[in-house]
Amino acid sequence: MKIHAILLAALTLLLIAPRASAADADKKEAAQPAKPILCRGHYHTEEEAVKQLARMAATYSNLKEWKARAATIRKQILVGAKLDPLPERTPLKPVIHSKRKYDGYSVEAAAIEARPGFYVYGSLYRPLGKKGPHPGVLCPHGHARGPEGGRYRADQQHRCATLARMGAVVFSYDMIGFGDSLFLGWDHGHSQALTLQTWSSIRALDFLQSLPDVDDDRIGVTGCSGGGTQTFLLTAIDDRVKVAVPVVMVSAHFFGGCHCESGMPIHKTAKLETNNAEIAALTAPRPLLLVSVGGDWTKNTPKVELPYIENVYRLYGDDANEVANSHFPKEGHGYQLSKRQAMYPFMVKHLGLDAKGVRDAKTGVFDESKTVLETPQKMRVFDKKHPLPKHALKPGERVGVSEE
Ligand SMILES: [Zn+2]
Repeated sequence: MKIHAILLAALTLLLIAPRASAADADKKEAAQPAKPILCRGHYHTEEEAVKQLARMAATYSNLKEWKARAATIRKQILVGAKLDPLPERTPLKPVIHSKRKYDGYSVEAAAIEARPGFYVYGSLYRPLGKKGPHPGVLCPHGHARGPEGGRYRADQQHRCATLARMGAVVFSYDMIGFGDSLFLGWDHGHSQALTLQTWSSIRALDFLQSLPDVDDDRIGVTGCSGGGTQTFLLTAIDDRVKVAVPVVMVSAHFFGGCHCESGMPIHKTAKLETNNAEIAALTAPRPLLLVSVGGDWTKNTPKVELPYIENVYRLYGDDANEVANSHFPKEGHGYQLSKRQAMYPFMVKHLGLDAKGVRDAKTGVFDESKTVLETPQKMRVFDKKHPLPKHALKPGERVGVSEE
């Protein structure tokens, strides 16, 4: 009898146990938020991208419907990036020093506090000999690494100096783990990279607008590759940007290969799918120039991404500004001279820059020969002579944002 009772108890346990653990698992799953859907890198093929664009285009047929969709996409980006609600705009406490004067422009070391103790480091280029107020241009950079990568790159210095010589106040700023940020010990692998870089771009715009010589209504943004991602993300969520030139990045089939571009659920949720071509379309009706090449994921721009975006601009009718594409089928990734020569006239036209003395009247070529290429040492904001404030966060530290 005893043995029978034990066997019966064991059998009962065997029958009940799996059911109990399945119920526990169900409960556990219900308690946890759904796993985020990440569209990383080549998340889908070129063919799938074309089909996705068709699905997305079918969700609106007039301006009212598009505006409603655009608002939902904007919200998804902010929620996905953990920037909803936006963090408090704490004092920027700008640090600006070491002005270097060159032919037609100057460069200063400049840093701002995007969150208390979290600095964004950069170079501030200003026109010399031109009357303000001046248009402002933000120049984020891409993932080109090394001691002379990011903001220190020659192509970035040429771009900033030449825009400044035409009358723009330009802020060129580091991503996390690049430039001064790298020099001070930060790593690009920081888990909040997308959140912090997007917030830093918003604060960089606050900084430009806080300068007395900047015209708040004439703000442009241009960046290449990862800097292109920052360009269209900022433009999508901040209507203070009036002109955008994302270079070699807007693609319907490639979502950005870095966690700072696609490591958070900004592209897809259970409720809404989008891609970087549509996020760039959120620029509408403001002027937008897509610079694309045959040698990377922007190779289809003239026949895939541009028509989708043009269709959105068409909905705005007469209120739509220019949407354009400069395509270089034989060229590769980067913000080389040819791409800069495509960007300059667009910025001149839409920001009201003064190209006199820079653009050759006959050839239309913009002269970059006056740029003085500086060394990283010269471009640093904090060094022995200008020590980092004591309350600065330690490299790698988590930064408090709104939801924490
Ligand atoms: Zn990155």
